[in-house]
Amino acid sequence: MDFFISEFHQNISDEEILSDIISITTKLGKATITMHDYDQNGKYNSSTVIRRFGSWNNALKKLNLPINQTFWEKQDLFINLETAWIKKGKQPSRRDMDNKDLSYISSGAYLRAFGKWSTALTEFIVFINNTSNSINILSNNSFENDKKHNTNRDINLRLRFLVMKRDNFKCCMCGRSPANTPGLELHIDHIKPWSKGGETVIDNLQTLCSDCNLGKSNLSEKE
Ligand SMILES: [Zn+2]
Repeated sequence: MDFFISEFHQNISDEEILSDIISITTKLGKATITMHDYDQNGKYNSSTVIRRFGSWNNALKKLNLPINQTFWEKQDLFINLETAWIKKGKQPSRRDMDNKDLSYISSGAYLRAFGKWSTALTEFIVFINNTSNSINILSNNSFENDKKHNTNRDINLRLRFLVMKRDNFKCCMCGRSPANTPGLELHIDHIKPWSKGGETVIDNLQTLCSDCNLGKSNLSEKE
């Protein structure tokens, strides 16, 4: 079984993730929880949850929380569309959304929310190009604010997509991509490390696979 763990949270147990999801759901006073709500409030991020449990719904099932498979929030549809786009390395087709290797939300959910697949794509691009949106894909507890930086360390969905698109959805060091290496995970790396004053701006960010990213952090630790 392929099993991927985010390097940020490799020592976190399944139970810790699940208990955080349930505590946020309770805190919000909701019957169930969307990826968007969890990203805004949770300790970890929805992509970590998905890597750990295979899908957001699998995590909800483990917690006996209701799964809303009919209507998704637009943010969830965008997060999933971005993931499919990165895995494919280019714009996914409507049919791609029914391929479980690329997408965990079916094309039908997009058609219910947007009417047409082309409208879903158009709205996604508007969302990506909208500089005022700031949905963080990293967890709130990685938020660091200090006087040395003008930007937040967290990389939001919009910036992540723009960096990966510029880098053609490939690792800048080894050139591999999820499209030619199934299961490969891409991360966004600060070229000048955040700890050394590097900012979260597109010119200081690059796409790296998890292997190269881990190699890079090991190297800089030895410096
Ligand atoms: Zn690489």
